[in-house]
Amino acid sequence: MGKASRDKRDIYYRKAKEEGWRARSAFKLLQIDEEFNIFEGVKRVVDLCAAPGSWSQVLSRKLYLPAKQSSDSKNGELPLIVAIDLQPMAPIEGVIQVQGDITNARTAEVVIRHFDGCKADLVVCDGAPDVTGLHDMDEFVQSQLILAGLTIVTHVLREGGKFIAKIFRGKDTSLLYCQLKLFFPVVTFAKPKSSRNSSIEAFAVCENYSPPEGFNPKDLHHLLEKVGSPSGADDLDCSSGWLEGPNKVYIPFLACGDLSGYDSDRSYPLPKDADGTYQSLDPVQPPIAPPYKRALELKKASSHGIRELEKLSLDS
Ligand code: SAM
Repeated sequence: MGKASRDKRDIYYRKAKEEGWRARSAFKLLQIDEEFNIFEGVKRVVDLCAAPGSWSQVLSRKLYLPAKQSSDSKNGELPLIVAIDLQPMAPIEGVIQVQGDITNARTAEVVIRHFDGCKADLVVCDGAPDVTGLHDMDEFVQSQLILAGLTIVTHVLREGGKFIAKIFRGKDTSLLYCQLKLFFPVVTFAKPKSSRNSSIEAFAVCENYSPPEGFNPKDLHHLLEKVGSPSGADDLDCSSGWLEGPNKVYIPFLACGDLSGYDSDRSYPLPKDADGTYQSLDPVQPPIAPPYKRALELKKASSHGIRELEKLSLDS
């Protein structure tokens, strides 16, 4: 799809470029905030799976930059924003970057060290694996990322804090809901207007972190297994069956963002210049080391190799 064509079919992609966001995902966080007021009183935040960085940009613009301009900065009380991803990210003002895997305990330790004994008010996680198209598999891998996020939450989030995590809706959604409810009395699954209806993605908005009394983060997995096991795991007892019949869980599900605003599943006409043409903007910040970079290098190298071989056979 050409840039102009994508601009037409994906209003949030175009708006992201116009407003200086690195990715259209920025609108998802902004729309979640419109509904849930997630930034109120937030001074310390962790952005898990942050690259290319549009959520970190939102955090910087909503929390860091206003504080820097206000009197708070004179007291040295600037908000702390720590962003983690497997991929490196171009710098963002007020955002500390950690490159690492959130499923790795050492990454969690690095994050905790940045907080220097203090706790975060908010943890956000927009993590997504490379989608395979196999729905159950994608949902399972996604749930593992959320559980890695929850592990970090149990170490860094203060009581009363919030956790926002991307989920893939599927047959284990009720199980995930019950697992999150162990730690948060209020859990809502939200679908921002900028997230396409055709996408199985939604966001768990978990409020008022309250771990069970006497909870030790080391017991997290044991505790979660007590609630149930993902139905895709064949060595487990699939006890999520208790979520059926009279015990069925009803999950609060909410559409958010200005519902009369832009619809991510619609095409919109492109704004024309005075001379009647449309100028498509370049992306704000192309990824600096995207996972497909190596594939492109290999493809380039192999086509170069083929050309060299062709030259040799012509010469001989
Ligand atoms: N919130 C980001 C933004 O607004 O720019 C977009 C995040 S993107 C949808 C998903 C990210 O998850 C990718 O950058 C990917 O590298 C990251 N990711 C996937 N698995 C991860 C893992 N195990 N540890 C850290 N990051 C991971």
